[in-house]
Amino acid sequence: MKTWQLYIDGKWVDAQDHRTYSVPNPATEEEIAQVPDASVADIDRAVAAARRAFDTGPWSNTPLEERVALLDRIADIIERRKDEFRDALVAAHGAEFVTHTQQLESPIRLIRNYAEIARRFPFEEMLPLVEQPLPSGSNLVSSLLVRQPVGVCALIPTWNFPLWVTSQKFAPALAAGCTMVVKPSPWGPIIDLMIAEVVEEAGLPPGVLNVVSGQAPEIGPALVEDPRIDMVSFTGSNATGMRIMEGVAKNLTRVHFELGGKSALIVLDDYDLDAAVPSASSPAFFHAGQGCAMTTRVLVQRSRHDELVSKMAAFVENAVKIGNPSDPSVLLGPVIRPERRGAIEEYIASANEQGADLATGGGRPAELDRGWFVEPTIFGNVRSDMRVAQEEIFGPVVSVIPFEDEDDAIRIANDSNYGLFGGILSNDTQRAIGMARRLRTGGVTINSAINSFQKPSGGFKHSGIGRENGRFGLEEYTELQVVMWPN
Ligand code: NAD
Repeated sequence: MKTWQLYIDGKWVDAQDHRTYSVPNPATEEEIAQVPDASVADIDRAVAAARRAFDTGPWSNTPLEERVALLDRIADIIERRKDEFRDALVAAHGAEFVTHTQQLESPIRLIRNYAEIARRFPFEEMLPLVEQPLPSGSNLVSSLLVRQPVGVCALIPTWNFPLWVTSQKFAPALAAGCTMVVKPSPWGPIIDLMIAEVVEEAGLPPGVLNVVSGQAPEIGPALVEDPRIDMVSFTGSNATGMRIMEGVAKNLTRVHFELGGKSALIVLDDYDLDAAVPSASSPAFFHAGQGCAMTTRVLVQRSRHDELVSKMAAFVENAVKIGNPSDPSVLLGPVIRPERRGAIEEYIASANEQGADLATGGGRPAELDRGWFVEPTIFGNVRSDMRVAQEEIFGPVVSVIPFEDEDDAIRIANDSNYGLFGGILSNDTQRAIGMARRLRTGGVTINSAINSFQKPSGGFKHSGIGRENGRFGLEEYTELQVVMWPN
């Protein structure tokens, strides 16, 4: 079993007070690693290193070609070490085989894609000449738009798709010329520490990317509220996003937030119900429902509600094998920690109390006596005002809500504080696009189409601020500067 160290200023070091904590396998409850349990003093060291690296400029002054070549090298190294990453994702995060594309292949492609985008990105561009009377007598102004790196970034990713989420942050930050401190989720440090190994091997200069793992509640606030930080990029719950925003207000630090979701899938009346069942049911098993953009509310015409619910229940009962994701035939693994399972079970109890119809699941699989498992759970006849329809559960629970007509479906879909994502199933693409325009969400998938790499990913309302992926993600890590002179 490995004992990890922190990665600060290009060196592997113990936490200042030498504390470590244990990382369990959620499927077996066995310890798989010890990782450093950092204190505020370690955050201070890491921020100082990142600030120094930015201010002395070795990275932001590195020619773009070298920066993107390094991103490609990072992708190559992850590719070479794919089996180790896969093992860690399975053991520490319960990553089922069906999630491996998103967990492992997509991050590698994303990093390469950022290298490509950065090569074509307008870090400097001339704006059109503008006529403006000037004291010098000239009446034409030239303007150069410069996209400078935003500076020192605090990157706080989450644990559900850890390589994907951290890559969404460090790849554009590196491409832009920023330096950074990565503070992993206490429930997901190993992948971020492996990323530190990768950037070290790739030859990133010391201090540009630092990783400080720990579970003390004070280290997150110490990082984001440090006045040497120029930007906070956080992926997590909206409650924590609100706390971070309060904390950074005193420094007016820029924030980028990827927060929670309660996305709706609208099944239109022209769509075959059998064809709708796999995607409608998938949040009840895909990575145990631990995904921000999953369509955990399924909206269907009242006349077709009972049939859809019973088909979904039959599907998960027959198709979903539950167990340790080290077995590739397992479709539903554990949730990350026992406290998460407790929270999910409270939501299930609330749905039962508020009068939803439990169609399947709702308990723990009887055959598994170790690991933090929850059965795939489907509720029918959910009302939009119930807690399971309003709050993010982050577990394998789907709520089916009946609607009367298209306007009613849009009203219910938008009846949420969240606005991350949504889906429409229809054989009439133009009809579905028309409906999508009425949804207040950052993304809409029609018939499950996904463009992972170019799409701006992020949310309306309480689901976030800013966008990740593609050129939109790179823009987040830049500051605009305009330089003007008489022509
Ligand atoms: P969380 O809100 O519990 O965040 C925990 C993290 O925040 C930890 O690293 C903790 O140290 C840090 N933290 C807590 N208080 C802080 C403070 N005051 N200042 C700075 N840091 C602080 O979320 P989680 O459990 O890690 O993630 C689950 C959530 O992530 C879900 O809501 C999910 O929807 C969301 N998510 C969103 C996306 C997206 O792209 N929108 C992707 C994946 C997950």
